[in-house]
Amino acid sequence: MTYYIKELFYSLQGEGVHTGRPAIFCRFTGCNLWSGRETDRASARCRFCDTDFRGTDGSGGGRYSSASALANQISALWPAAAVQPWVVCTGGEPLLQLDAALIAALQQRGCAVAIETNGTLPAPAGLDWICVSPKAGAPLRQTSGNELKLVYPQCGALPEQFAHLPFQHFSLQPLADVNGIDHTTEAIAYCKLHPQWRLSLQTHQLLGIP
Ligand code: SF4
Repeated sequence: MTYYIKELFYSLQGEGVHTGRPAIFCRFTGCNLWSGRETDRASARCRFCDTDFRGTDGSGGGRYSSASALANQISALWPAAAVQPWVVCTGGEPLLQLDAALIAALQQRGCAVAIETNGTLPAPAGLDWICVSPKAGAPLRQTSGNELKLVYPQCGALPEQFAHLPFQHFSLQPLADVNGIDHTTEAIAYCKLHPQWRLSLQTHQLLGIP
């Protein structure tokens, strides 16, 4: 299996339950809900993406011809042998490529493996953390996990549609568009009325870190 990787980097988790946690990010190339081209955004199934997931030209990006080669590159970014590496597989949509072989190769190197997915594809067994971020109009196939993180508001993807699903944590993240301040106010109000949900902020954007 060849893995197409946009970039690998070490930073802090910017959003959701693990905000502030040091993590190695493996950003897979490509998504099934948008091509990544601005000319296609208006017709895409997901239109609010703020991530560049096209190509393999980022730091640590490239074509990796085996799970072990990619796992070696990822695990080498972790600075402290005494603490278990936390690896976040993201994208794009990582489930287009992430497979059992790569999960196993990372875990053999002592890593815990987390995923940030749009939930349109089932996750392979063995992941240590599954965070699903449903998108309006896209079928939800990964209906269980550790965290459900919903960008809010989305017409056609209301929190009430997901609140019954078997996740441990429910995070509401304000949509970061030109009305972002209003969306934040709305998300705060929703969480206060429905305390099952917690506010998730894109702290990496607020702080200007990758
Ligand atoms: S599903 Fe995620 S990666 Fe894909 S276009 Fe939407 S926000 Fe971007």
